[in-house]
Amino acid sequence: MKKHLLILSFLIVLLGCKNEITPSSEEKRDAIKQNEFAIIIHGGAGTILKKNMSDEKEAEYKAKLEEAIKVGYAILNNGGTSQDAVLKTIQVMEESPLFNAGKGAVFTHEETNELDASFMDGKTLNAGAVAGVTNVKSPIELAIKIMTDSDHVMLSGKGASVFAKDKGLEIVDPSYFYTENRFKSLQRIKASAKTELNRDDKKAAFYDADIKNSKFGTVGCVALDKNGNISAGTSTGGMTNKRWGRIGDAPIIGSGTYANNKTCGVSSTGWGEYFIRGQVAYDISAQMEYQQKTLKEATSDVIQNKLTKLGGTGGVVALDKNGNMSFEFNTAGMYRASMNDKGDLVVKIYKE
Ligand code: ASP
Repeated sequence: MKKHLLILSFLIVLLGCKNEITPSSEEKRDAIKQNEFAIIIHGGAGTILKKNMSDEKEAEYKAKLEEAIKVGYAILNNGGTSQDAVLKTIQVMEESPLFNAGKGAVFTHEETNELDASFMDGKTLNAGAVAGVTNVKSPIELAIKIMTDSDHVMLSGKGASVFAKDKGLEIVDPSYFYTENRFKSLQRIKASAKTELNRDDKKAAFYDADIKNSKFGTVGCVALDKNGNISAGTSTGGMTNKRWGRIGDAPIIGSGTYANNKTCGVSSTGWGEYFIRGQVAYDISAQMEYQQKTLKEATSDVIQNKLTKLGGTGGVVALDKNGNMSFEFNTAGMYRASMNDKGDLVVKIYKE
């Protein structure tokens, strides 16, 4: 009897050990090259509900997401770099008034547009970022220029504009960024914030109003090229009614953007203060590096568990070194699209 018990315990221990070291089927799949190259984008996350969207608007968003991602896909398919794919894809969205980046950026409390962007190269871990520029047509291009042509990672405000001008980037009149829709959103939010300010928690009112009344709309892109290099970029106008030179997560490397060829690339969108506090983009990469998590496990833990517990809302698009891709968000919707190396296209808006 004793002997049998001994053998039984031995078998249980053995099985237990086996379970610990045997990778799950998801891990096995993720460890195999899924795509030689791939690209994934977002156009912001938030309270994006089917009931509030006309069929025409929905079609417009989907068409623009498709147009943007196909630009990046073509670059990758032709053997171009992930840096170029991220730049050109984001520029399509920056130039569209549909998104809160470049033209169509949200308004600050003072009725101006202040733009933030960042870029990271997963091969060298080099990065560039810009915060609070008001007259540079393509903030993502400026972020990349800061990475390639300066000794710095982040420039802000007037200095960043001078740098952009010196480097020959396109400078526009600040009115270029104006859109009536975004201006009206600001007015609505200001009006509701006034009412809310009678409440006790005055600080919350500013953001509550923003969250309730507007979607976010930041844009981001992560790409893996045929040479195995991952790049990630994010561009935004920030949050409606921001003031005092508020800077969100989008230009913060590790929060809004992160890329490392050893793990993955990430671009975030959502309530920036929480993404900064949670170091969301870097945390995903770190969980993969230090805990051997799959991309799906890491993005799901960081967004559905950690960010949600913190009280943050938003999401990420992420892509790993093997071409696995992940959309993860805890909001009602996220404008998003992906394309694999076979050219299969996914374009979605709501939770499905
Ligand atoms: N994350 C951006 C910010 O907080 C906003 C957004 O994603 O739409 O500035």
